[in-house]
Amino acid sequence: MTFEELKLTRQFLNAIEEEGFQNPTPVQEQAIPKILSGQHLIGIAQTGTGKTAAYLLPVFMKIKYAQGDDPRVIVLVPTKELVLQVKKQGEALARYTNIRFTALYGGVGKQPQIQELEAGTDVIIATPRRLSELYNLGAFRMKKITTMILDEADRMLDMGFLPQINAIMDILPRKKQNLLFSATFPPKVEKLSQDFMDFPVKIEITPQATPVETVEQILYPVPNTPTKMNLLEFLLQDEETFHRVIIFCKTKKTTHALFTFLKKKATKSIREIHSNKGQNTRINAMNDFKSGEVRILVATDVAARGIDVESVSHVINFDVPVLYEDYVHRIGRTGRAFKTGTAITFMNDAEKFHIKKIEKLIGMFIPKKAIPEAVEIPETSFEEKQEIAKSIDHQRRKDDPNYKGAFHDKKRDNPKAYSNKKSSKKGRHKNRWKRK
Ligand code: ADP
Ligand code: MG
Repeated sequence: MTFEELKLTRQFLNAIEEEGFQNPTPVQEQAIPKILSGQHLIGIAQTGTGKTAAYLLPVFMKIKYAQGDDPRVIVLVPTKELVLQVKKQGEALARYTNIRFTALYGGVGKQPQIQELEAGTDVIIATPRRLSELYNLGAFRMKKITTMILDEADRMLDMGFLPQINAIMDILPRKKQNLLFSATFPPKVEKLSQDFMDFPVKIEITPQATPVETVEQILYPVPNTPTKMNLLEFLLQDEETFHRVIIFCKTKKTTHALFTFLKKKATKSIREIHSNKGQNTRINAMNDFKSGEVRILVATDVAARGIDVESVSHVINFDVPVLYEDYVHRIGRTGRAFKTGTAITFMNDAEKFHIKKIEKLIGMFIPKKAIPEAVEIPETSFEEKQEIAKSIDHQRRKDDPNYKGAFHDKKRDNPKAYSNKKSSKKGRHKNRWKRK
């Protein structure tokens, strides 16, 4: 199918061509006609499948040009970075119209945003909290809103924005078109869609939580954190292959520690993004990464969610995400829009449990690779051994309420569990980390 067949008008077709889009993606093919016909729509498609243009283009077709002072469209997204990214895509696709865009997000002063609203706008792109704050200050009116879009709905709920979203819904005019986009459709998103939309149509492009096919996945079993660091340092030496890399960590602490380590050891061409960094630092880091000036970005899940960067060569999961859907989101950073990429995950013994669950979620096994010869494998420290053992114990307890725990007298209490573990216990000897 072509964009012409989707009945978009010339000014948008020209902009699409200049953006380098040749054909609509599946979600665009399905969503655009339905949105144009005025239906409420739920669009489920994984990250990197072109959901932004899938809602922006038909919405622009409806508002056509600048009009009055009051906004007519609101797009809600979870993070500041996404606000800026959606705005950028909007401005590009609407470049042959005079549609006005206003970006609202926290972490910066309210005054410039208020002034922009007062000057008149057509499309607001906002994080839920800042939108509510500015509305409560009387910075704009909602009565002309004809289209409301919740983008990355799953993530907004994960981030606890439900109260703000509900408050906004209560003020919006009843008669308007509602659109909801999400990479996954867990029950809480379903509930939100029921509260917020009457008789929506739902399109689901790929089965839930299946990684993009263009991503090659690799799993490295690794005994401990120092080995993870050595392996990372080793991989990053190949600057040509690893030319644009995002490294994900669970916490800002690890993110910062890893950033400091790599900056010293591997490369100066590196930035970090997490919530301890100021707004401007984060935006600058993202921009430098996007422009190619910076090769490596170390990030937490929240900071990097939904961010679209062209041709990321590698996503490296320094640790396995505990929110399993984040795995899909993380690896969705690479292999975007028909390009191919590689997703590498480091897994210690405690993380095996989570990988099993992730493999179940994505419906496939992640191929394993041995640690390369050149990488030094230090002994696991006593502290880390304990931490890993405790974590495994905790997971077992969660899975089996009858499990008595490794630190309990397990031989006598649960002989079966013990004998089952015998072979793997032997394998826990450090020789196990010898390469074949
Ligand atoms: P999603 O919101 O589904 O994660 P995005 O809307 O961020 O995905 O789009 C991912 C990338 O694909 C962006 O760089 C976007 O410019 C590009 N893109 C979108 N639609 C097309 C298309 N029809 N052809 C080629 N690239 C596209
Ligand atoms: Mg998106």
